[in-house]
Amino acid sequence: MNKTGFAVALVLAAVCSMGIAQNPPSPVESAMGKAVDAQTAAAIGLLEKLVNINSGTMNLAGVVAVKDVVAPQIEALGFKVQWTPMESLDGRAGDLVAEHVCAAGTGKCGKRILLIGHLDTVFEPSSSFQRYSIVPGTNGNVATGPGVNDMKGGLVVMLTALRAMKTAGVLDNTEIRIVLSGDEEKHGFPVSVSRKNMIDAAKKSDVALEFEPGGMVNGKDVQSISRRSAASWRVETSGRSGHSSQVFSERMGDGAIYELARILDAFRKELKEPGLTYNVGLVLGGATATMNANGTGGEATGKSNVVPPVALALGDVRTLDNEQTARVQAKMQAIVADHLPKTGATISFDEAYPAMAPTEAGRALIKQLNEVNATLGLPVMEEMDPMARGAGDIAFVAPYVPGLVGTGVMGEGAHAEGETVFLDSIPRQAKRMALLMYRLGQ
Ligand SMILES: [Zn+2]
Repeated sequence: MNKTGFAVALVLAAVCSMGIAQNPPSPVESAMGKAVDAQTAAAIGLLEKLVNINSGTMNLAGVVAVKDVVAPQIEALGFKVQWTPMESLDGRAGDLVAEHVCAAGTGKCGKRILLIGHLDTVFEPSSSFQRYSIVPGTNGNVATGPGVNDMKGGLVVMLTALRAMKTAGVLDNTEIRIVLSGDEEKHGFPVSVSRKNMIDAAKKSDVALEFEPGGMVNGKDVQSISRRSAASWRVETSGRSGHSSQVFSERMGDGAIYELARILDAFRKELKEPGLTYNVGLVLGGATATMNANGTGGEATGKSNVVPPVALALGDVRTLDNEQTARVQAKMQAIVADHLPKTGATISFDEAYPAMAPTEAGRALIKQLNEVNATLGLPVMEEMDPMARGAGDIAFVAPYVPGLVGTGVMGEGAHAEGETVFLDSIPRQAKRMALLMYRLGQ
């Protein structure tokens, strides 16, 4: 048995062990695969074009320029496309909303599919990371540039898959909605407004696919069905101030900084549990302490011989499900309320990204995806550990529809200058998504 034959046998063994039947591609599925291959060069060209348009969240003209490239391509597939500007909402660009309803009267339409993603990136015009290029020494397979991975690559996967469905003649009988936000990396508030289009579309859908970066572990593609929550918290403590010789006295008490230290150390010791992380990112305290409006720094004054009247800390907390969020926040509140002598403290939590917990409906989608993998001759994809990824927009639609998290491109280093995409993942993911959408839509 040659090496390839052995690899195929291993894959077959793995597929059979998961109870996934072999199912060769149907004629339309073969046509979709060929259509993806025929488009790959153009898809990579489109990625380069999109990446070279700066669309940092707060560069509204850039986000709109990306929309102006993407929208006509979606329209050409037969979608009704709308742009909802959101300048009035915290100065964000807007959402692209597209709808392709099942051809009336055919009675042939299956699950209604929601595709979500975003047009913005974390790289604002002030970043030095602005251009698309091929990474030398990678045989042309690795490209770098702002958003190649998160998630202009995912936009290209989505468009390539839809176009393959169109070419194979199966798009007309599929009901698909698309919502692409312009502010995923830095939400406009309130979230109930900035995510309204996404939530409304979810209410009219049966399943969601989110084209954020896909997952890879040890060189193998994996599939995520969950996302942890993300929220930031802020603790503010107060105390009496005066000469340090009187600290701990009945009159002076312990001061604001010891109170803050007590709280942070109790968090460190008492909150730990599986699936939870929490971090302290910034601390200020002294005679005065003021944080800037963005929570990225501040100013403090103080002297070694003055008991400090004020201290502040800023941190985050990430959970596996919303029940854990509520329980951990209650524990944090109880710790904060247990003051040292003559001190006070308060904690506040910002409007958070909810968690998307793993569900059986999500696992059933992975099973369907693995049936697609079997058809395509690709290895089984395992479920990705939710600890391995951050929060995302799909969590807002998770109460209404099950979904796959991260069906976009594979690559490395999202959100850091130098992020990459493995270009061979574009046709691979586009084929997976074209076949999956086709089968879901049957
Ligand atoms: Zn993203």
